[in-house]
Amino acid sequence: MAGVSRLQYRTEARLIRVMCSGRVDLSFVLRGFSNGADGVFIGGCHPGECNYMVHGNYHALSMVHLCRRILEHIGINPERLIIDWCDAGEGIRFGRIMNEFGSKIQELGPLGEGEGEGTDGSELKSRIEEVTKLVPYIKLVEKEKLESRLEKLEEYEELYTSDEVDKLLTEVPSYYIDPEKCQACGICARQCPVEAIEGGKNKIHVIDQEKCIKCGTCFEVCPPRFGAVTKLVNEPVPAPLPEEERTVVRKGKENKES
Ligand code: SF4
Ligand code: SF4
Repeated sequence: MAGVSRLQYRTEARLIRVMCSGRVDLSFVLRGFSNGADGVFIGGCHPGECNYMVHGNYHALSMVHLCRRILEHIGINPERLIIDWCDAGEGIRFGRIMNEFGSKIQELGPLGEGEGEGTDGSELKSRIEEVTKLVPYIKLVEKEKLESRLEKLEEYEELYTSDEVDKLLTEVPSYYIDPEKCQACGICARQCPVEAIEGGKNKIHVIDQEKCIKCGTCFEVCPPRFGAVTKLVNEPVPAPLPEEERTVVRKGKENKES
C-alpha cells in the first residue's frame, strides 16, 4: 500500500515478502544479519487478526523475543531486531515504522560497531554462523514457548530470560556412539530425523557431528542393554573410528577366533 500510494520511506530497506509473519524462521533473521543487514524488521498482521487462523503473528512475536536474547548472547544489540503490526491497508503506518526503525539503526551504526558491540565483522559473522547451526536444537528445546499464545503482548517480553538463553547456548549437548558398546542394531540410524548416523550391517555406527541437530533421539532409542549413545556437554567429542575398523566384533565370535 505504501508503494501504491507513492509514500516515501527510507531507501536502505530491502523487502522480503512471505505469506505470513509466522513463516519467518529464526534462521532467516540470523541469515539477514550474517549477510550484512544492520537491522531486521518483521511486519505482521495485528494480533488477533491473523488471516490464516493459525496465529502466525504470535509465533513470530515469540521468535523475535527469543532471537533478541540470542543476539544479546552473541554480542549484537537486540534493538537491531523489531516486530510491529501493520496490515495491507496501512501504508502510512508502514512508512512511519520503516522511517523510525531506519533512524534507530542509523543511530546504532553499522552492525558490530554499535555501543557494546565492538566486534570485527568476521568474528561476528562466525558467531552468527555458529548459532545458526544450532537453530534446530534451539527450536526443539523452546518448542512449547515458541508456539505459545499469551494473553498480553507484554508477557512475551518476559518469556525468555538472558540466563535461560545463555545456558541454552553454553550447554549445548553432543551425542557420541561408544564403539565399544555399539552392536549395529541400526535402530538409531533409522530414527535419526536428519540421517546423521552412518552405519550399515554389522558396522559400528557413527554420528556425523556436522549433520546432527542434537535432538537426542539416538540417545533415547538405543536399547538399554547396549547403552551405546552418550550425551556430552562441554566435552570434546572423540574422533570417530576409521572406516576400516568399524566392523562389530561379537563377543562369542571373538572367543571362537582366539
Ligand atoms: S542427536 Fe538426533 S540428529 Fe543427532 S545423531 Fe542423534 S538422532 Fe540424529
Ligand atoms: S541403537 Fe545403539 S547399538 Fe544400535 S546401532 Fe545405534 S548406537 Fe549402536
